[in-house]
Amino acid sequence: MSEVKIDLPVDELPKSWYNILPDLPKPLPPPKDPETGHSRLEFLSKVMVKKCLEQEGSDQRWVPIPEELQELYIQAGRPRPLRRARRLEKFLKTPAHLYWKREDLSPTGSHKVNTALAQMFYAREEGREGVCTETGAGQWGTALSYASCLMGLKCVVFWVRNVYDWKVDRRTLMKMYGGEVHASPSNVTETGRSILKENPDHPGSLGIAISEGLEYAGKNEGFAYCLGSVLNHVLMHQTVIGLETIKQFNISGEQPDLLIGCFGGGSNFGGFALPFIGEVLRGKRKCEFLAAQSLSAPNISRGEYRYDFADYAGRTPLLKMYTLGHRVEMPPIFGDGLRYSGASPILSLLRSLGYIRTKIYPVDEKVVFEAARTFLQTEGFLPAPESSYAVRAMMDEALKCKETGEEKVLACNLSGHGFLDIFGYRKVLNL
Ligand SMILES: *Cc1c(COP(=O)(O)O)cnc(C)c1O
Repeated sequence: MSEVKIDLPVDELPKSWYNILPDLPKPLPPPKDPETGHSRLEFLSKVMVKKCLEQEGSDQRWVPIPEELQELYIQAGRPRPLRRARRLEKFLKTPAHLYWKREDLSPTGSHKVNTALAQMFYAREEGREGVCTETGAGQWGTALSYASCLMGLKCVVFWVRNVYDWKVDRRTLMKMYGGEVHASPSNVTETGRSILKENPDHPGSLGIAISEGLEYAGKNEGFAYCLGSVLNHVLMHQTVIGLETIKQFNISGEQPDLLIGCFGGGSNFGGFALPFIGEVLRGKRKCEFLAAQSLSAPNISRGEYRYDFADYAGRTPLLKMYTLGHRVEMPPIFGDGLRYSGASPILSLLRSLGYIRTKIYPVDEKVVFEAARTFLQTEGFLPAPESSYAVRAMMDEALKCKETGEEKVLACNLSGHGFLDIFGYRKVLNL
């Protein structure tokens, strides 16, 4: 009988990140400049942290995690447990075995800490005064503010206004970590001012917030621009999740048939799945992969696979990815971290080659949040609104197993906890 809780001792913390680039079946189409205008690639090489940019195109399969960073991962609670959801299995009457990885135990409430610490570490190493960034749901801004105070750097956050307005408690937490937080569009940048001039009540979007962050970094020397998802180096930092999970399944004595994650830009999904996908590509393992999305932003499910900008104003290079169009309007949802126009280029390539299945849930979020409630009532922990998409998808797969009688092993990544986002549950579940 496999364990309910599979812990790794501290000395089993991964010592290297996994970089999938050399193992991809086809070369990843590189970022490129648009045919007109200034060079975005040159601009990015100035505002981004150099080490991160270098990692973005690395051909090294294993990239060592600096020792100080390993210590900070341990301080943040790594390695994190893998849990078997026995009560949920019983409730669903499924023959499937259900597992969940506990990224919800992070200090700021999400997996984003894994890359925030790494990016901040390298920003300090190259002598930056601070960093700036965008945030949608607020999890990334919180994680970066947390990492900035541990590294003694400044952190400026542009936060999509319609989320900034209602997530009062998370805003306070960000400020307690020392973050300088602006509602976006803001008066701090030209991009923000020009949008506010046309519409003073503009609700903002992640694409606009990215444009503001990039403009700020361009004009404030000493500030680096950091991104919390989509890019290759971000996914690589996140692979500590999947690398731990591989060790934990080896302890459990069974191997997963299907790995599930919610999908916004792809960082938690990639961090969880890429180490497994790497083994599939190298012929060492059989496993399927499922990304759970909202109909509000079904980028990797229904987007077009083509070159597009990653931000509203077109300040980034063009990335080959599944995209809904960089100026698309997306209906608001409480799982706001899943609302982004483009999908990670690495995961887009793997999707185009048939390695990733997807599932889309309706914009009203009812079935998804009901799944979060079921999970809370059986396993005791409240998933982040985003994570509840992964929980819902795992439950749906478990119910399929109930029909077919298959004893599959399913695992989902619980990318975060929902304690700071209870408002959304109250609204959707009428509590
Ligand atoms: C940011 C976030 C997501 C979505 O972003 P990805 O890059 O797709 O992982 C999902 N869950 C949580 C808890 C988040 O903070």
